[in-house]
Order: sequence, then C-alpha cells, then structure tokens
Amino acid sequence: MTAMDNEIFDLIDLEAKRQVSGLELIASENYVSDNVLKAAGSILTNKYAEGYPHKRYYGGCEIVDKIEIIAIERAKLLFNAEYVNVQPHSGSQANTAVFHACLNPGDKILGFDLSHGGHLTHGSPVNFSGKLYTTSFYGVDRETGLLDYDEIAKIAEKEQPKLIIAGASAYSREIDYKRFREIADNVGAVLLSDIAHPAGLIAKGLLQDAVEHSHICTSTTHKTLRGPRGGIIIMGKDFENPFDQKLKNGNLKMMSTLLNSGVFPGNQGGPLMHIIAAKAVAFEEALQEDFLNYTVRTKLNAQALANSLKAKGYDIISDGTDNHMMLIDLRNKGITGKDAEIALGKAHITVNKNMVPFDSESPFVTSGIRIGTAAITTRGMKEDQMGKIASWIDSVVSNSKDEDEILRIGKEINEYASSYPIFQK
Ligand code: PLP
Repeated sequence: MTAMDNEIFDLIDLEAKRQVSGLELIASENYVSDNVLKAAGSILTNKYAEGYPHKRYYGGCEIVDKIEIIAIERAKLLFNAEYVNVQPHSGSQANTAVFHACLNPGDKILGFDLSHGGHLTHGSPVNFSGKLYTTSFYGVDRETGLLDYDEIAKIAEKEQPKLIIAGASAYSREIDYKRFREIADNVGAVLLSDIAHPAGLIAKGLLQDAVEHSHICTSTTHKTLRGPRGGIIIMGKDFENPFDQKLKNGNLKMMSTLLNSGVFPGNQGGPLMHIIAAKAVAFEEALQEDFLNYTVRTKLNAQALANSLKAKGYDIISDGTDNHMMLIDLRNKGITGKDAEIALGKAHITVNKNMVPFDSESPFVTSGIRIGTAAITTRGMKEDQMGKIASWIDSVVSNSKDEDEILRIGKEINEYASSYPIFQK
C-alpha cells in the first residue's frame, strides 16, 4: 500500500464538508446513495472493456459483461424502452454519438437556443454540434417565456432540418414531445429528445413520456435520476426507423447498430465499467416506489419555492415550474446573475448564474440564476421548508454588499443544513 495522498484526500474531505454544510440548489446536481458511490469508487475502474457484452476487444470481460447487461435491462425497464446504451461517459457524449449515428457533417439540425434554455450540444457555435453541423434554432416566446410550437413548426418547415432536438438545460415547463414528433414527422426529421434534466421525473410518469414519442432519447444519469455522472441513449418500444418511416418497428437492429457504433468506436474508447455498475445501482433504486415519492416531492418543492419567490417579487421565467427547476430573471432586483451567484455562494447557497431569454448581459455575467430542488429533496427538505429557503435567498440578494449580513445568514444555513445529514464522511 502506498502512503495516503493527503493533498488530494484532504481536499476531498473539504469538498464533502462543503456539500453537506450548505444548500445545494444547482438544478443539475444531486447526492448519490452510498451504494452508487461504492460502485463508482470500486475496482471496476481497473478494467478495460472496449466493445459491447460478448463482443469485446479485451479478455477478462466475463464479469463486466454481466454488469453491463444488468445495467441495460434495468434502464429498459425504467424507461419502458427497447434499446439502451449505457456507455456514454456523459450527456454530451451521448448526444455526440447520436449525431454521429444519424447525420453527416454539414447536415442541418434544429435545436433550442442556448441563451433561451438549450444546451451547448444542441448547436452552439462553440461546441462540436455548431462546428460540424449546419444549425438553426428555436426559442421561447418573449411574453410568456414558453415554447411556441406553431412557431417551431414554421421554423422546421423553413429550415428542413435532418434532426430536431427537444429538451433543455433551463426550461421549467412541461415539454410536449408528442407535438415535437408531429413537427419532426412533417419535415421528415429525426426527433432526438434530450431528457438530461427531467429524466427521473419522466421515468416515474410525472412529465410527458419523451421515450414514447421520440425516435431517440439521450439523458445524463446524475441529475434527477440521482445516479453517477454519465450518459445514456434510449429508444422506445414503438420504435420506428427514422430513416425509413415505412419500416415501422422493423429495423431496430439497424438503428441500434448505428447508435452503438456512434458511441464506440465513433466517439469513445473503453467504457467506464465502475460508472456503468453505479448506473445499474441507480436504475434499480429509481425502479423502487420510494423513488416515485422522491420525484413527487422534488416537483412539489420546486413549485413551493417558485411560489414563495414570486410572492417576494421575483420574476420566474414562464411564471412557474412543472419540473424540478426554475429560471429567475433578476433584472427587477438590480443585480446580475454573476453577482447573485457570488453573494449566495458566500452564504453557502449554491446556484448558477444563467442567461435568461433575450438577455442583454454576456454569458459570463447574465441577468439570471437557475435553481433546482433535486438535491435538497434528496436531503429530506419538504415543501414547508421552501418559504424559509426563499427568505434566505431574498435576504442575500437584497443585501448582496453587506458582508456581515451574508455571514450571519451563512451561519444560519450551516446550522439548518446540519439537521439534514446526507453522507457519513
Ligand atoms: N443535455 C442537457 C439538456 C444538459 O442539461 C446537459 C448538462 O447539463 C447535458 C446534455 C450534458 O451533460 P454532461 O455535462 O454530462 O456532458
């Protein structure tokens, strides 16, 4: 055994303290269970397994084959799916693999504008998706902050994309995947629904089922799904080959092969078998009744928090939330997203600055913050606590230059957080 690497392990201890001593309101974060953590930190990290179960490019894969098959089967059950690939290292790599499988460089894609709530991988010019493909975008309505499906249909007809991406990083409302599918079918496009954020809520039936209506879905496994950091690709039961609408249910095999090779060798080498094992553990947890309770509480907490903030004069984009998150336009509060993130951070409330639709600030400054309830719900905080959390947020935002007040609030939050223990470290 080598000596303990104190430099790193001391920092891990400090990060563990940070994670438990404050309020984690970043919409894309969560706390995994001890079992997910155990699998993610296991000796499986030692194993190379390029390829797929029973078709590997390395020896000694008999055991990890079993693990990957279990992960796939559990995910299929969770999403009522016919096909799942559990190998993508991240949500971005899941999207990259789908693009590889369905498009040629230069093909046209239609995605949700990053500054209105989309993700980098949905066509941003700084990302591979905007560099390799020809992009077009839809956004939200200026007045309502909602997706306008008639407008999206018009843009699709004009742009004739080969692939349409539904899904978002910062959109708090239900997404109508059925309508997106009609729009895609009308122009002969593949519908990719990126459910990275609401996947846990979709799996438990709390939001419209993207898997049922999309040709292909991608997701991360670490947000509302509460698994390890990673990605997955899913195809539903009523699969239709997006390249040939006449072959209904007829060519799942062909599309699975394309997607599998989009992941490996198209975009990745060896899969992270420790993370695949942790995904399997998380999928089993998500299949339990208790996870349904968790997702219901996450959604109720988000609604309660949004209502409390609205009562204090905060401008929630789209006026509320149907999922686990909300986007707050701070312009009427006279503070930028950047300054609010810094001030809240000093009080041990972690959020991220976020562009709001039609923002006049740069992405480094922004006019808004994004808030989510997935992590605080895992800690056990319930609806009746959301008013208190909204008051703390409001006190910090209203006194962002008052270091003494922020220090005082920070101490209150440390004390409050200590009554919601999360992991033993
Ligand atoms: N897609 C959406 C909608 C996301 O919100 C994110 C992450 O925030 C991703 C994809 C990418 O996930 P990752 O950070 O794992 O690459």
